[in-house]
Parts: sequence; C-alpha cells; structure tokens
Amino acid sequence: MRAVVYRGVNDLRVETVPVPAIGAKELLVKVAVCGVCPTDIKKIHYGTVAPPRIFGHETAGTIVKVGSRVPGLGFRLKPGDRVALHHHVPCLECHFCRHRAFAQCKTYKRTGITAGFEPAGGGFAEYVRVMDFVLPGVVKIPARNTFEEGAMLEPVNTVLKAVKRLNLLRGDTVLVAGQGPIGLMFTKILQLHGMKVVATDLLESRLKLAKRFGAKKAVLAAQLSTIDDPLDGAVIAVPSDAAVKQALERVRGAGQVLLFAHTKRALTPSGLCPLDLASVCLDEKDLIGSYSSDFTIQDEVAKLVFSRKLDVRRLITHRFPLDRTAAAVQMAANPRPDSLKIIVSEGVPAIEKASV
Ligand SMILES: [Zn+2]
Ligand SMILES: [Zn+2]
Repeated sequence: MRAVVYRGVNDLRVETVPVPAIGAKELLVKVAVCGVCPTDIKKIHYGTVAPPRIFGHETAGTIVKVGSRVPGLGFRLKPGDRVALHHHVPCLECHFCRHRAFAQCKTYKRTGITAGFEPAGGGFAEYVRVMDFVLPGVVKIPARNTFEEGAMLEPVNTVLKAVKRLNLLRGDTVLVAGQGPIGLMFTKILQLHGMKVVATDLLESRLKLAKRFGAKKAVLAAQLSTIDDPLDGAVIAVPSDAAVKQALERVRGAGQVLLFAHTKRALTPSGLCPLDLASVCLDEKDLIGSYSSDFTIQDEVAKLVFSRKLDVRRLITHRFPLDRTAAAVQMAANPRPDSLKIIVSEGVPAIEKASV
C-alpha cells in the first residue's frame, strides 16, 4: 500500500509499505479521511520523535477486516462499517485516570493505531491497524454523516474537554484568542453553552467566520483594548505568550485563562516568569491548561458533531490526496486567509477545493 513516511525533519516521502497484519483482537481499516493536526506538524518540523513513522491521527474509514476475537462494544464491528478512530484511550483505573487527567495516563500515552513502524497514528496511509486497547475509541459514523465529520471527532473532543475545565456560568463573557479551526470550535461550543464570546485573530477573514460561529464580538488581536466587556474567562488557542499575559491582565478577579496551544516546552530566556503572579494569588485568577482528549465524553462529542449543532463541515477548506500529504502539512503550518482545517482524503480532486 501507499503511505507517507516521516524520514526526518521536514522529510515526508510517499513510499510503498506492507498492509499491516492484524492480531485476533484487532481491526484493519481502510482510511478514507485523515485530518492534519498541529501536533503532527510540530513533530515533523522539529523532529521531536525519531523517524521512521507514519503520522495522521484524525482518522475515519471503513473496516475491512475484523480479528476473530474482537469483543463487542455494545455494538458488533463488521467489515463495511464506517468508523471514526481514536489513537489514544486511557485505562480509566490508574492514579491519573481517577483524577480525570487522562492525557497523563500511561496507557493513554501509548498510540494504538499504526500503518507500520513505531505506532504514530498511521492515518497518512491507505490502511491502518487498530490495536485492542484503543477499540473502545471506535465510533460508528451514522449513514447521513460523512467520513470528514467522523475525522473531526478527535479535535472536537479536545475542545469540549477544555471547555469543561472552565468554571463558567451561563451569560459569562469569554475571550477566545485565535480563530483557526480550533478557535472556531471553541467559539461555537462556548456559544452553545450560553456564553458570550469575544473572538480575536490576526486575520480579518477569520473575524467574519467567528461571527458566523456565534461570537458576539470579533476584533483584531491588536484591538482587544477597544472591547470593554469584563472577561470571565479566556481561551488561548494560539501559541502566543503575549496573548496569555494580556488575557491574565484582562480577566476579572476569579477568572480563568486556559492555555490550549502552548505545546512547545520552553523557558523564558531569564528562566523567570514574566507574568504577574499576584494576579493568581491576590486576584484569584486561575491559569490552567488542557491537552488532548477525554474518552468519557465521547458520546457527547459524537452527538454534537453528527447532529451538526457544531457543523464541522464548514471548517474544512482544503482537501489533498494522500500523495500530496507534504503539501497539506505545509499549508496547515502556514495558514492563509482562506484556509482552516486541512485534510488528506482519497477520492477527491488533486486541486484544493475551498468550501468557505
Ligand atoms: Zn489532533
Ligand atoms: Zn489510566
């Protein structure tokens, strides 16, 4: 089969590799769609993991083979089923799982989907092997919904999980800094939960979209000072330290600032914190973070996406065939005014197709 193999920093190659063999408790899935995720881009650009690997973890496709001892999941899995996959599933029993910190669980950190080499998601290939410990993360895609919608379950889960970390009351005002695909999901989900969203971005085109996704106000990041609504919370969906500092200053006492995009470890040059820590102590503001998904909210996520209350179809702007995965990654890493979620998908024209 064809697969896009990561061979080193910024080196993705289309290669022929064996279709993965599966065990008795595993599935073989033919990939239909795989989203390009910033966490994969980071690994490709910075070489934070050793090659070779096949990335891609926002995967939806069709089951083609079911191992002889695959257990039921409340429903039977059979060849021909259209499914969305999750490459990380927690054990639900360890210290971290009992604290609902699933992303810190040892089992969760293991990647359970592969197209070959060290498991890394494998979605940028024609077929993936789904291992037994991530089977609970398999979700059937309803007949009316598309593979693309299925592939969006994982990113939507990470956003809903983060929203649940915020202590908000209906009618509260929340800043969402960054209106890329993730920021827009935050905007919509917060609005669905009854919050007033103030959206910021560096691109005018995204401010218009933010309004369409339910933002009450949308301004360029540099103009946040023109908004005088008191903020009860802030979501920082861009890796900007300045945005964190500004949000911590702007939220009112007891407000929360949630970091969602600060995934690159780094200390400030002096090694000292550039934030006013008295805002945490005296003003009782919380600085919190959220990373990755929460397996236990999976049904809620599926309902949100498949009912189209959160219509993820509007977030997908560009589709690339498997052979052009490197171009898809390149575009996702360098957003344009008209680009949002980029996906790799077979059976679509090689020409990028805009739908927003
Ligand atoms: Zn992802
Ligand atoms: Zn655990």
